[in-house]
Amino acid sequence: MTSRYFSYRDGRLHASEVALDALAAEVGTPFYCYSADALEHGYRHFAAALSGLPATICYALKANSNQAVIGTFAALGAGADVVSEGELRRALAAGVPAHKIVFAGVGKTAAELAAGLDAGILQFNVESLSELRLLSQIATARGTTAAVALRVNPDVDAGTHAKITTGRADTKFGIDAKEARDFLLANRDIPGLRVEGLAVHIGSQLTDIAPYRLAFERLIALYRELRAAGVALRRLDFGGGIGISYEHGPTGEEVAEADARVTAYAEMVRALVKDLDVELVFEPGRLLVGNAGVLVTRVLYVKDNGPRRFIIVDAAMNDLIRPSLYDAWHEIVPLKAAAPGAERRPVDVVGPVCESTDTFARQRPLPPIAEGDLLAFSSTGAYSFVMASTYNSRLLAPEVMVRGDRSAVVRARMDYETMIGQDRMPDWLAAAPDEDLSPNRQAGKTRGAA
Ligand SMILES: *Cc1c(COP(=O)(O)O)cnc(C)c1O
Repeated sequence: MTSRYFSYRDGRLHASEVALDALAAEVGTPFYCYSADALEHGYRHFAAALSGLPATICYALKANSNQAVIGTFAALGAGADVVSEGELRRALAAGVPAHKIVFAGVGKTAAELAAGLDAGILQFNVESLSELRLLSQIATARGTTAAVALRVNPDVDAGTHAKITTGRADTKFGIDAKEARDFLLANRDIPGLRVEGLAVHIGSQLTDIAPYRLAFERLIALYRELRAAGVALRRLDFGGGIGISYEHGPTGEEVAEADARVTAYAEMVRALVKDLDVELVFEPGRLLVGNAGVLVTRVLYVKDNGPRRFIIVDAAMNDLIRPSLYDAWHEIVPLKAAAPGAERRPVDVVGPVCESTDTFARQRPLPPIAEGDLLAFSSTGAYSFVMASTYNSRLLAPEVMVRGDRSAVVRARMDYETMIGQDRMPDWLAAAPDEDLSPNRQAGKTRGAA
């Protein structure tokens, strides 16, 4: 949570200028709330930090792909980084121009490559020579040309969580740098393809700038070498991955601190590309949305099992899986400000799902919490709603966006008809009641016949 956009006013937690408890009364709990003001601030600061560089900022949709979020960035001039046909369609539907869309991902299908070609996107970030051959075939068959960047694996350790590191040689991502080099030197003309760029993306939630510098230096060295050898490269894609602060006080990370990290990153890039003839692509995701969202939940029960106190809330791992999946830590704050000097005691905050991993926090010191209270999980704008599922047949939560003192439901809560209605009975159950094999029906039939 960034303090300028999430703050207590008269003891009530607000997103922008909207009281979250009022939204809870309107849409019910749990629900996600995003501050458009925070989104706009983050994008504008990122763009300003890069000003003067020939850069396209392609927001990485997978962090949060609500149409209203994409549309907010598109209105400010953003492009999009997509990793599936679904995300490609979302980006186009939200108004991102095709010529600002980059298609990444280690396992694009033939249909997805064709969809990208038909849309006329800026670039495919190709992650294997097999994918390159397939794209060449598809483009040739369609009589068109695909713009390509090879995603190189720079073999640097981003020093981030093992489940979100992507730049080491032992991960599935990218093409070995030497293999990419040899291939490009040996294959100057590939039918249906224009290899225009090199790309890296070394991981997510990076808080240290050193691994970036190392990866970018390696990429730039390769770029220079290939250009000197006559390969017509013109673009470098530096990927995403800039981290945010998850651990901060109840009023959140100072916006200025986040902005300073971005400025330092941009200055590092500026120095590296100083005398390079190159266009740049950036793919920030989490940085732009992570601290612009909260998940609001209501306390259902407070239960003491021996010495351990459990706060059972109405959000669960199906709504927010990051703590279960990555041991992620989210700040938990009451919507009603705790009394000054209120004593904190360690509690476990858990959801209702029948899995012991459905735990948001263990032994977290929190101020007094009563049944019926409203709580917010902060820093849940990224990789949160997008990972939600209907596990335990729980409905997907709604998403609300606020801007100034206005609010809008940007995705309604799913309803039970929609959830169950996606299932189909097989015809042997749906159409043939006579063949019902359950013991009761069998017995009933026998009695009926007698
Ligand atoms: C996930 C991803 C991003 C965005 O990562 P963040 O950590 O959210 O900035 C960018 N580019 C690629 C290729 C990705 O896979």
